[in-house]
Amino acid sequence: MTLFDSPSFAGHEGVHVFYDEKTGLKAIIAVHSTARGPAVGGCRMWAYGSSAEALEDVLRLSRGMSYKNAVADLEMGGGKSVIIGDSRKDKSPELFRAFGRAINTLGGTYYSAEDVGVSVADISEAHKETEFVVGLSGGKEGSGDPSPVTAEGVFRSTKVVVERLWNQNDLSGLTVAVQGVGHVGGYLADKLHAAGAKLIVTDVNQPVLEEVAARTGAQIVSPDAIYDVDADIYAPCALGATLNPQTLERIKARAIVGAANNQLATAEIGQILHKRGVLYAPDYVVNGGGIINVASELHARQSGGAYDWNWVDGKLERLMETLREILERSASEGRPTHEIADAIAEARINAARDAREKALKAA
Ligand code: NAD
Repeated sequence: MTLFDSPSFAGHEGVHVFYDEKTGLKAIIAVHSTARGPAVGGCRMWAYGSSAEALEDVLRLSRGMSYKNAVADLEMGGGKSVIIGDSRKDKSPELFRAFGRAINTLGGTYYSAEDVGVSVADISEAHKETEFVVGLSGGKEGSGDPSPVTAEGVFRSTKVVVERLWNQNDLSGLTVAVQGVGHVGGYLADKLHAAGAKLIVTDVNQPVLEEVAARTGAQIVSPDAIYDVDADIYAPCALGATLNPQTLERIKARAIVGAANNQLATAEIGQILHKRGVLYAPDYVVNGGGIINVASELHARQSGGAYDWNWVDGKLERLMETLREILERSASEGRPTHEIADAIAEARINAARDAREKALKAA
């Protein structure tokens, strides 16, 4: 395969490769779309098997960020970056300063943040060289850990789904199976418990699992058994691709609402769930609270203000309106929810791109 053969290039505005011999930086920044604002998306550090693999990953992820940001109705486009390397061995402050200089050359077209293998401390190093990073913990605009806001978005999404399927506005009488009670799943379990849900929980981290179960009265099951439990709602909050041909036969829940990214192993799984009448709340809508929290930092900086929970809360409510629209359209058009979510995101991106082109022509 030659460089430009990948179909994942489609729709991208720019793909930038950076190499810094002194620090060993090998990075790719992909800018999918700036139609709705600067391309915002985290940086992933991963020991990719080849540069082609890294390229494929960054292209796929940057497109995903355009969709996630658009569906959350943020004035941001989509982009992503990857640093090729082992985050346990190859990190240094100098590497992230070099990465910061790389970001800076794009002049604000792309803003970076944390992702797998990249911490707040790493992004703070990059920040010494560029203003175009978000997800910092300090300062009056700093949005800090996004997990509680992600959990709040998952919780509100669960309530939207419960209202639709069970016609009730609390969770009493319902059982939720939470897979993974880490940063997001832990906060989510507390919220579900407070709203009256019965919980079944699992995690590979036994001490954390026992702590969450003790405070929420949850039943503990082994990691593999979570797919077989009798629950009304399955909340995947650990890994991606847990909705796959093997688990599909086992999950009895009527609804799936969780924080994990890329829950559908393939798009076809989404179609099968739809045909079976299982309500799948699209992952990138449900977990949009995290990016909303990050966006609040950019908003505060641009408006000269401070972190503002009311702004975040308003965006979360808008996201829930979009989720209601997705569920409504999925039912009326007879199409899977993930397809409707994509269609809404695409329509918003295209409308912004057309408006920008029109304004450019008029100028
Ligand atoms: P985390 O690492 O804090 O929590 C994940 C938990 O899952 C951990 O406790 C881990 O022990 C557990 N786990 C791992 N493998 C497991 C398995 N096989 N079975 C059961 N449990 C397992 O991560 P997090 O920040 O809580 O994120 C959870 C998911 O939500 C991830 O997929 C992440 O990409 C996604 N997400 C997180 C945020 C956020 O704000 N943190 C935002 C959007 C999406």
